This record gives sequence, structure tokens and C-alpha cells, in this order.
Amino acid sequence: MLNIVLFGPPGAGKGTQSQLLIDQYHLMHLSTGDILRGEIAQGTELGLKAKSIMDRGDLIPDEVVISMIRSILEKNLNAKGFIFDGFPRTTTQAESLDEMLDELNTSISTMLSLDVDDDELTKRLLERGKSSGRADDANESIIRNRIQEYNNKTAPLKEFYTQQNKLQSIEGVGSIDAINAKLCEAIDQL
Ligand code: ADP
Repeated sequence: MLNIVLFGPPGAGKGTQSQLLIDQYHLMHLSTGDILRGEIAQGTELGLKAKSIMDRGDLIPDEVVISMIRSILEKNLNAKGFIFDGFPRTTTQAESLDEMLDELNTSISTMLSLDVDDDELTKRLLERGKSSGRADDANESIIRNRIQEYNNKTAPLKEFYTQQNKLQSIEGVGSIDAINAKLCEAIDQL
């Protein structure tokens, strides 16, 4: 299996690049943000609980997102591989993911980290907010909170995957196609 953690701060372009990679490598896209927004749209109990947390730009509790991922992995044992987008976001999530994949006799192949500076991220997210309808993109202080959550809780995962010799950093500024080409190059040399 080819299992990729597509990593980076909010607004780094993980969703856009995932869409290209799933077609190019026939992988399944697993975006916890998309799954949670789906729950909100359907008005499920989980969605109702998640909405206020997401609207503030805080992280959803680990056990909630871990059990979401577990149930999807268990239903897709025949997949060629997965792109994890927006997961893991904490060390606890990363440790659980390793355990879950180990139980399925597979593992993370690589972490591809898209690097973009904070000012560029804020600019992109405010721009996206004009059309996305996402409450968490609408206001600069919420965006700053999301970036801060990323810097405090999520960025340390680079060290986690460095220790496993899996981190590959990619400059996330440039055209969509140029960034895609760099990601493909990193995947193809695995
Ligand atoms: P972005 O990368 O632009 O922040 P996402 O769609 O990945 O967008 O995430 C949106 C929100 O969903 C996050 O701010 C957080 O509240 C919640 N969320 C998504 N994935 C996770 C996760 N793995 N752990 C905790 N919260 C998450």
C-alpha cells in the first residue's frame, strides 16, 4: 500500500493537491475536515458537537477523529493506499494511526509537508472565505487561532516523522502544477 500523510498548515493546499494525487496514484482521500463538514451538513450528533469547535478554529478531540479514521480504514481494506489530509494533527493521533496501520499490516510510506509562511496562509484563507462559506475562513482572528493550533499541536509531528525517516518537505508556494510535480517526484522516488 502507498500511504501518504499530506501535511501542512491550514491553507497550505493539501485539499487541492490531494485531489490531483488521488487520480494520479489511485489512492483514497481521507480528509478529516471534509468528513466532519459532511457530518455537520447532515446534522448528525457528531456534526452538532463538532460545529462550534470547528467554527472557533480549535481541534476536535483526538478520540473522535481517531474513531472516524478507524471505521473508514476497516471498511476499505482493499484500497491501493490512502492520502491522509488533515490527519494526524496531534502526536496522539499519529501514534494511533501507526497502530491502526500496523494492525492492517501496513504503514505510512511518507509524510509530504507543504511549507507556506503564515502571512501567505492568512491571505489565502481570507480569500477562500469569500466563496467557501466556511465560518472558520471568515475572520482573521479565527484564522490566526487555527494557525496557532497548527504551530502548537500539529507542527511537532514533523519531528515524529523525521524520527521515522519519513519527512519530505516541499515548498508550497508556486503554481498548482509545479507543486504537484514536486510531490510526484517525492512519491516516485520512494
Ligand atoms: P484546514 O486545513 O484549512 O484547517 P480542515 O478541513 O483540515 O481545514 O480542518 C478544519 C477543522 O476541522 C479544523 O480547524 C478542526 O477544527 C477540525 N479537524 C479536522 N481534522 C482534524 C483532526 N485530525 N483533529 C482535530 N480536529 C480536526
